[in-house]
Amino acid sequence: MAEVNVSPLKHFVTAKKKINGIFEQLGTYIKESAAFLEDTYKNEQLDPLTTEEQVQEVCSYLSKVAGIGEVLARRHMKVVFFGRTSNGKSSVINAMLCDKVLPSGIGHTTNCFLRVEGTDGNDGFLLTEGSEDRKSITTVNQLAHALLQDVDLDAGSLVCVMWPKAKCALLRDDLVLLDSPGIDVTTELDSWIDKFCLDADVFVLVANSESTLMQTEKSFFHKVNQRLSSPNVFILNNRWDASASEPEYMEEVRRQHMDRCTNFLVDELAVVDRAQASDRIFFVSAKEVLQARVQKAQGMPESGGALAEGFQARMFEFQNFERRFEECISQSAVKTKFEQHTVRAKQISEALRRIMDLVHVAAQEQRLYCLETKEDRQQRLEFIEKQLDLLTMDCKAKIKRITEEVERQVTNTMAEEIRKLHVLVDDFHMDFHPSPVVLKVYKNELHRYIEDGLGKTMSERCSSSITNALQATQMEMIEGLKPLLPNPIREQANKIIPRQFFNLTYDLACDKLCSDFQEDISFHFSLGWTMLVNRYLGPKNTRRALMGYNDQVPRPMALTPVSTSMPPFPQSSVTQEELMVTMVTGLASLTSRTSMGVLVVGGVIWKAVGWRLIALSLGLYGLLYVYERLTWTTKAKERAFKRQFVDYASEKLQLIVSYTGSNCSHQVQQELTSVFAQLCQQVDVTRQNLDDEVNEMNRKIELLDNLQSKAKLLRNKAGWLDSELNMFTQQYLQQSK
Ligand code: GDP
Repeated sequence: MAEVNVSPLKHFVTAKKKINGIFEQLGTYIKESAAFLEDTYKNEQLDPLTTEEQVQEVCSYLSKVAGIGEVLARRHMKVVFFGRTSNGKSSVINAMLCDKVLPSGIGHTTNCFLRVEGTDGNDGFLLTEGSEDRKSITTVNQLAHALLQDVDLDAGSLVCVMWPKAKCALLRDDLVLLDSPGIDVTTELDSWIDKFCLDADVFVLVANSESTLMQTEKSFFHKVNQRLSSPNVFILNNRWDASASEPEYMEEVRRQHMDRCTNFLVDELAVVDRAQASDRIFFVSAKEVLQARVQKAQGMPESGGALAEGFQARMFEFQNFERRFEECISQSAVKTKFEQHTVRAKQISEALRRIMDLVHVAAQEQRLYCLETKEDRQQRLEFIEKQLDLLTMDCKAKIKRITEEVERQVTNTMAEEIRKLHVLVDDFHMDFHPSPVVLKVYKNELHRYIEDGLGKTMSERCSSSITNALQATQMEMIEGLKPLLPNPIREQANKIIPRQFFNLTYDLACDKLCSDFQEDISFHFSLGWTMLVNRYLGPKNTRRALMGYNDQVPRPMALTPVSTSMPPFPQSSVTQEELMVTMVTGLASLTSRTSMGVLVVGGVIWKAVGWRLIALSLGLYGLLYVYERLTWTTKAKERAFKRQFVDYASEKLQLIVSYTGSNCSHQVQQELTSVFAQLCQQVDVTRQNLDDEVNEMNRKIELLDNLQSKAKLLRNKAGWLDSELNMFTQQYLQQSK
């Protein structure tokens, strides 16, 4: 039974609260979405996940929803009362409000519309159109007085009667009641409809049951019906209490009124079915109801006054009207005032859901791409590591091979060139003179000449082939490492090595090597004692033999300093030569011991061969000596010098052959190692780039994860709002159909 007491108007009130709540949430949601999209759009670290149009679209919803929210907050139910003057419109409004709010019984005081609306304050006041001035009113008489006083009010203008909600339950439920001037006193019905009726939810025609419906009343509703589709129209046959004085005709009159009114609503206006027409036509007495309710409010019994017969029935009918009216207006208002906005809100939430879906999908695609890229880079990194290990081993082997080859080639070539050194020395031409100063200069020039000559020949014979082999190995290394180099460098890999033209240097240092060379260009008679011994024993042993025989013996010819690094003589040859030395030494000591011995021997020979032969021999010996002495010219000295030098230099150069070979191979190794190191540096750049890319992808993936989950959250929120709107539609809009 409690439900019966709940006003149907609450349906509108709760629906309004609900839809306002949904729009508030929608507004907050759009703000959140707009901020998210803007941030995502401005994010420069990622490829675009959203477009400028989408951002603008969502931002535009923000103002739209805010506007709708404001409109919704001001939404109310509106009922307009029409009828001829003195039919009791004001009385009906007062009866519904259970209070004498509007003045009545004095004819319509003005030609203006009176709009009764609730206010939260304790005092009522008046607001006239186009003015912010509040005219305080506490009683109905004050209102009547105020309306009569205000001569500025134009016909058809609006006066708002703001009445405390606390005094009137109906006003608490967002109901606005509009009292109109009598439709019999105006010709401006069209402008009234445009100005006051387009947002009306219910029209109440207050008719006088003492007369029939007038054409003016009918034509007004025809006009309304043309402007609004299926307006809700109630017809109150007021002053029904008057029929109580003639009870015998009451039923007949009621039936006649009922038929006419039904025909009007069903046939003429076609706003209601015939079956429902009885719920729209009532026979009431506003005056009685008002009186009874005022009395009740004052604590007196409802029927305390002198009321006509059948009051209870009329009272019940009025209450019945109120119930039907409230049901009708609340359901109609919910539909007309909220349905359109609900549809709009659904469209907006759907659009947002679609956008969030697009962002989510875009983020997912980009995340997938980042994952694939990351995996690819990691695989590449692994490949590079493995490949580099293999290539390093391969390059080391190549370098080893080529350096060994270079060493072998340089060593062989140098050995050959040393063997041909005499040719080179013979080609040296410079003024020769045995004086020490000239000799010094001569030697220096000869050193330089040999250094240049040997270097040049070595270079001609070795350098180009070595350089070719070196370049080929370099190219092989570049080709091998090319796939591991950074992309921009890969195209021009050949240029990455800053190659000054590689040139082998042999660095023979002849001057130092031969600095100890000591020539012997003094005259030595070929049949002299020293030379004969030398011929048999070689220069070294001659010296030893002669030194042992006599300290006065001249220096041995072609005295060559004994190098500490010279290889020792073989043991067997030493023993044989030692034997010869001993013999000759013994012989020499014999001749020197006594000149007498010579004479004895001479005497013996003299006796044996005769003096002529001896004289001839001595003559020949002397001639030969003179000849040799005369041919011992500077030229001969130079030849002897060169011969001695060739012997000496060959021996010395022989010692540095292997050193030069390894020096050259070292140069080649250095060159190749440095090229390989440079290539490895570039590979390191590739590795670093790949590492950077992997890190970048990780960062992006994390960012996209966050964006994706946020987009998903917002998409779900849109879905949730949509289901809220569906529930609202189901609960408030579909029922009212
Ligand atoms: P309005 O001009 O249409 O607003 O009519 P009012 O409400 O001012 O009423 C005009 C007169 O009719 C007043 O004197 C009321 O007392 C009277 N009146 C209104 N309703 C009834 C009713 O139901 N029965 C009777 N007997 N008089 C009524």
